[in-house]
Amino acid sequence: MSITKWILTVPHGKCDDVVDEGHPCDTVAMKAADMLADALDDLEQEVVIVHATTIREMGDLNRITTAGRTFHQIWEREVNETTRPCVVDVHSFDDLNWFGGTNVALLESTPTWNRWTKQLAVLSDAAHLQGKDENYIITHAVRDLGCPAILIEFWESLSVRKLEKAVVKIAEALVSLSHDKMIRIEK
Ligand SMILES: [Zn+2]
Repeated sequence: MSITKWILTVPHGKCDDVVDEGHPCDTVAMKAADMLADALDDLEQEVVIVHATTIREMGDLNRITTAGRTFHQIWEREVNETTRPCVVDVHSFDDLNWFGGTNVALLESTPTWNRWTKQLAVLSDAAHLQGKDENYIITHAVRDLGCPAILIEFWESLSVRKLEKAVVKIAEALVSLSHDKMIRIEK
């Protein structure tokens, strides 16, 4: 049993020209998602990318407060129309200290259900960490839609070559996991 479609969500990928305090958008997430889609496509996987339709200031698309918005309707429809979907939520971060000095982090949402996240981290040499806040995409996919879901964070200062290398590793690990261990969770 393998995954029939990878649904890549990029909730913080939309950036505008306004320079804001802190980290108003994930500047590398779109590029990373495109690379991941290409890498999965090279492995003959079916992929769809669901980009953020609004900037983060209009509401954080990774939180339950934005449930029901167009962005969520799109990825949820993809999940519901796919026999064995897997959601991969793609992010990027600017401060290397944010996830303990790691370039690529796989985060568990709170509460934790994703046994795949740990397996994926081992296979792809990524860090496996507990996220600080509940991630709505992950929890809604896993808990409500019965769909495996994984959250990936890439460091924004990685060179293109290193980002690509990390992305390819993730893609290969996802596909090998999907053949061996990923099964659709019973609702
Ligand atoms: Zn993000």
